This record gives sequence, structure tokens and C-alpha cells, in this order.
Amino acid sequence: MPKIRKVCIVCGKEIWLNPGQIRQGRGKYCSSECQHQAQSKQVARQCEWCSRDFWVKSYLVKRGYGKFCSAECYGLSRQKRQMRICEICGAEFIRRDCAVNRGKGRFCSIECKAIWWSSVSSGENCPSWRGGKSFEPYPCSFNG
Ligand SMILES: [Zn+2]
Ligand SMILES: [Zn+2]
Ligand SMILES: [Zn+2]
Repeated sequence: MPKIRKVCIVCGKEIWLNPGQIRQGRGKYCSSECQHQAQSKQVARQCEWCSRDFWVKSYLVKRGYGKFCSAECYGLSRQKRQMRICEICGAEFIRRDCAVNRGKGRFCSIECKAIWWSSVSSGENCPSWRGGKSFEPYPCSFNG
């Protein structure tokens, strides 16, 4: 019977098993020692992207994982980004390169952009802003 190649999820060592053993749920660990390690220690980590605290198995940290709390944070961290300073409140924030290139990344939040907007919207350069009174919070099209 052909054996199936598996990799120990703890130490990365190759394990060869026959299909029957895999059906029994084996093939994750090369040894009971590795199994024990996987099921025991967890360490507290801080997500490199969102700074949230989370718990991760210590063997994963040893293997270079455990930097991010979620796949989402990992994905975001891999996009090229820049540190920006908000023009209104001076807060530091991060925007993706592609957003900055499109002229975004000037304000940390929609609130700050609204403050900026109210300071520049005197009326003339905005077609939908007539007579200084509007029921729309953002008279011109608002895109972050
Ligand atoms: Zn192992
Ligand atoms: Zn995170
Ligand atoms: Zn701001």
C-alpha cells in the first residue's frame, strides 16, 4: 500500500503513513512528544498589525508564525503601506500605497475629513452647495 507523506505540524519533520492511519486521525505529529507540545503551551502575542493580544501555541511561534491575530491582519500587513500624519489632528495612521497614490491618506478619519471639508467649503467651488445651506452633510461626493 502506498504511504502518504505528511509533515509534523510541530517540528516540520516528514512522516510517512498509510491511509488507514490517517483515517484514524494520525499524521499531525511525528511523535508523542510533538503531540504533547502542540496540545500544551500557549503564549501571549501581540498582533503586529492591529496590536491586539492573542494566544498562540508556542511551537507555532518557534516556527515563525504567531505574528498576526488573524489571516485578515496578515493579509493587510503584506500590502504596501505608508505611515501618514493626519492634516487635521496630527494623528499617525497607515494607508495603503495605492490609496495614497490616488490622493487619499490625508486624514485619519472621516471626522477629520469633515472638519477639513467644512473649512474649505465656502460655496463657490462646489456645485451642489447653494446659498450656504444644505441638508446633506457632505455636499460634494465624499470619498474618504
Ligand atoms: Zn515532530
Ligand atoms: Zn490583528
Ligand atoms: Zn485626524
